[in-house]
Amino acid sequence: MPANRGRKKKGPNVKRSLQSDLARDVENARGWAEIVQIIRDQHQIPDLFTKAGLKRVYLNFDQVIRQLDSTFQKYEDNDEIVGGVVGIYTQMCEDAVLRTKLCENGLLSRLFPLLERDVCRQMALHTLVNIGHHGGTSVHAEVARQAPILVQTLLDHPEEHQTVEHIIVILSHSVGAAVNGDSQAPEMPEIHRSLDMRIILKTTIHHMRQLYASKTLIDHGNQLVFASAMHCSAAFRSEPDLDKFLVAGLKSKNWGLRGSCLGAMIRSYILSTVPDRPALGPAQLIQIFGSAWPPHLLEVMNQYGLSRCQSTQQRGHAMALSDAITGAHSRDHYILGGKLADLTLLTEFSLPATPMFPLSEIIPRCVEALRSRGTAADTNKADILEMKYLIKLQDWDGIKSKAQQFLARNPDSAYTFYALTLRPGSEDGLRAAKKGLKCKENNTTPYLYFQLLRRAIELAADLGVCYFQEYDQHGRMMWEEAIAFLMSALEDSKTFIEQAPPDNPYMMAILHWNIVLTITMEGPNADLKMVEVGLRSGARNKLKISEEISEHLRSPILHTQTYATQMLVVDLYAEAEKDWAAGIKLMDERLDEQIPPPDFPKKAEDELTAWLNDMSLKRFTCSSATPKVNVKDLWYKQCSWCRNPSAVLRKCSGCESARYCDSQCQKAHWSNHKKECKARIS
Ligand SMILES: [Zn+2]
Ligand SMILES: [Zn+2]
Ligand SMILES: [Zn+2]
Repeated sequence: MPANRGRKKKGPNVKRSLQSDLARDVENARGWAEIVQIIRDQHQIPDLFTKAGLKRVYLNFDQVIRQLDSTFQKYEDNDEIVGGVVGIYTQMCEDAVLRTKLCENGLLSRLFPLLERDVCRQMALHTLVNIGHHGGTSVHAEVARQAPILVQTLLDHPEEHQTVEHIIVILSHSVGAAVNGDSQAPEMPEIHRSLDMRIILKTTIHHMRQLYASKTLIDHGNQLVFASAMHCSAAFRSEPDLDKFLVAGLKSKNWGLRGSCLGAMIRSYILSTVPDRPALGPAQLIQIFGSAWPPHLLEVMNQYGLSRCQSTQQRGHAMALSDAITGAHSRDHYILGGKLADLTLLTEFSLPATPMFPLSEIIPRCVEALRSRGTAADTNKADILEMKYLIKLQDWDGIKSKAQQFLARNPDSAYTFYALTLRPGSEDGLRAAKKGLKCKENNTTPYLYFQLLRRAIELAADLGVCYFQEYDQHGRMMWEEAIAFLMSALEDSKTFIEQAPPDNPYMMAILHWNIVLTITMEGPNADLKMVEVGLRSGARNKLKISEEISEHLRSPILHTQTYATQMLVVDLYAEAEKDWAAGIKLMDERLDEQIPPPDFPKKAEDELTAWLNDMSLKRFTCSSATPKVNVKDLWYKQCSWCRNPSAVLRKCSGCESARYCDSQCQKAHWSNHKKECKARIS
């Protein structure tokens, strides 16, 4: 399309007589709107902006398509006519039913070849953006298969900013849908295998950091990076710039960018890492009994109190357990059950499964013997033992139904809450962990307390990462909830690091979370020094000691998800900042919509862009407004009693300021809250 199309003058043309009426009319048209009008008139296609017009097209769909297709084929080399026909398709695509019908009729296969033609490119891309925003799985699959053509167009025309933005939006929706998935498999495994994600992602982040990048471009690029992280982690690891972008994103002022980079980083290790180890088993502990601690580690252990350290205690418990199951009273199910229940509050290894000790026979008898006594203490022991057995069987449904019974009787049963934290599905688990931490001391032990605290950290961190991608029922992005969860995880990690024994088997994982979350929450103000020297002796120093303790206990450092994430952040932090600080700053400005991209010199396609924009009935909403976040106010997203962060808390009906998980939390808090509540009302 010539730049001066709108001003084209009529003039003598020797070819005119050889041309059809249509070609001649179109050549003389002033702009795209007129071209489309001419083609529509020729085929008597009604005005597509009116309901009556659309209805007539539905009714005559086959005929309309046949006519348009034959025109398309007849004038294949005529840019204006082909562009005009695509313009009509584009208009029709604004309507959901027509859009589906057009896609079923092979519209996409007609659009892709047009990407090479300068005149038709914008029109084709505009339609693909529209289809991509509304399309279902089959449309996404069809577009994703053509990703190489889209990427080639991106590489061939980096100077066409509208083209760049359109293509990143299209890739984000189609390729994003194909490569995203759960930990089992990507949504579309075959397409996933065929795509060169390294080049797709590399090109995407390259454009995201350019001066011309709009909020729409950055949002969609971000979504593509996030969607790819789990099943395309190889692309990240083979392209240093991608990993650096993720790390640098943690310094963004924009919480959405920060959250999605954190999430992408964590997701990228799901498939390549091993699960965290359980605590050391009794056999291992007895085996290493007597091997002396190196002096500097012994000093750390002594500082905490060697007798309170986990390995010392666990050794004692292992012996008590062996006594209980082989000793004089091992046939008395009441005594045995009592001992096993006590040990369950002290160690992960209270129920050894051996041929000499068939759990399925022994445990039900122990539970029965305890229950038949009927005292509160015996009943509690029976509950603990039964829960432990259900955990051992991984009977999550059983745990849920029993927990209701047990808690109705004894709302202060820390072990029941602990069992609930182990069930898949994390929001209930987190609430249980927080409530368990509030249980009275005689129902809990240091071992159980730190298990509950660990689960509270892991669950809140996971939920925080997920909530950055969630919308509430009003379409608001739930960043505040996400931040409240991460704050809770970070606070609890500080408590754990300060209070848990240095040889707690989960100390390393909690230090990993602490380091990553400290950096994330500090964002633009973060500095690696914060994790080197903060927190008494510094999280990174503590991590080193924790690793040495683990080695001494002959338990190798595992390549877990938290380990890998923490290493990535620490290793790349300085380089990421150097390479990406300017890029992230620019993205922050765009995302906050403070500074729009500069107006670029008007180009030939601007008339087309304007026409296409006029034509769009609906604006797309997948690049939503940046929610305002007030970090200081986020404690309102936590239960006033148990501190559980949650998106659904109920207000105290008195002061309307305190917030609670449920009536139990409100009841438990009332003696503390009463005075404040009445003061607030009056
Ligand atoms: Zn979109
Ligand atoms: Zn609560
Ligand atoms: Zn109140």
